Amino acid sequence: MQRTQKWRKRAVLLGLTAMLTILLSGCGGEANPKDKTAAAEPTSRQYYIFDTVVNIKLYEDPKGEEHLDHIDAMLKTLDEELSRTLETSQIYKVNQEAGVEAVEVSEDTIEVLKRSLNYAKETDGLFDPTVGGLVDLWDIGHEDAHVPAPEDLQRELSLVGYQNVVMDETKRTIFLKTPGMILDLGGIGKGYAADKIAAYLREEGVKSALVDLGGSSIIVVGSKPNGDDWIVGLQDPDSSRGTTMGTIRLNDQVINTSGVYERYFVEDGVMYHHILDPRTGAPAQNELKSVTILTDNATDADALSTVVFVMGLEKGMEFVENYNEVTEALFITKDDKIYVTSGLKDQFKVTNELYTLIQE
Ligand code: ADP
Ligand code: MG
Repeated sequence: MQRTQKWRKRAVLLGLTAMLTILLSGCGGEANPKDKTAAAEPTSRQYYIFDTVVNIKLYEDPKGEEHLDHIDAMLKTLDEELSRTLETSQIYKVNQEAGVEAVEVSEDTIEVLKRSLNYAKETDGLFDPTVGGLVDLWDIGHEDAHVPAPEDLQRELSLVGYQNVVMDETKRTIFLKTPGMILDLGGIGKGYAADKIAAYLREEGVKSALVDLGGSSIIVVGSKPNGDDWIVGLQDPDSSRGTTMGTIRLNDQVINTSGVYERYFVEDGVMYHHILDPRTGAPAQNELKSVTILTDNATDADALSTVVFVMGLEKGMEFVENYNEVTEALFITKDDKIYVTSGLKDQFKVTNELYTLIQE
């Protein structure tokens, strides 16, 4: 019990555990004196948005500070648009006016909601941006999180339903049909922010940059300063082990992991994490520890890692294999087995004997 409490506290305090790290020096992690990356000091900054620490590193960028200032402003705007909890945000207003009237929002907000509703349709509602009431009820990642009473769960579950979101793209308005309904774009907002940052850096001609969102999402621009590909180390989602279990060479891709150890609490020996199954209203219970998605944009990667987790190993694997040619996935199960989609077989290497890559 002692241990559980301590753990819970740590999870709460740290909020997020790094599950992905960029290896700046070859696969082995040893510094290579010939590797210029180690020497090149980037212009870097840390931001805090959507309950997440964002780290950005710009390599050999003479206008680095200016770019970082601009990103700061971009992130503040996105928070004012998409945050569920910020009382001045557009989404907050939309939620307040649920069942009352449509609220005018920005193009960004329309775009994120539009993509959310598409994922909802593609996944039969397993991705559902109207899970906000459940997210508030479970309050996972906060000190007082606990298993809710069944009647509260039923009430919030009855308010979930992406079909009851009315979006008017021409007027740029959003209306939630049911009073009490709550939009939450937490499963996709960070990915959207990462895509915007990367697009801006590319427009500005930045040749080499690293955008890391809370250690669960990495998007890179260009190649490493020495021209090499970026290599990502995958941490065991259970950070108590602190081990890297494998590496992936990024190939013009973004990478995003959703896992049970990101935000969670333990009650009566059961672990409750922050990825909810809209069919039950409770955290998805399956054989998985984490799902990592690689694809060509961070918005897809973010939303898909969340929803593929809800699907579980078998259905999730099938879904990603059929999604599109550029999307790949890596699953880690609770019994330390790793499963990858066909396109990842050559890109992923297991570097830790605790894990077994299942080749089918
Ligand atoms: P994180 O944002 O912490 O990296 P995820 O990308 O996996 O983690 O997203 C989890 C967040 O997505 C939750 O905190 C919640 O806001 C939202 N969410 C949880 N379950 C769902 C779901 N089934 N569909 C859409 N959004 C969800
Ligand atoms: Mg996600």
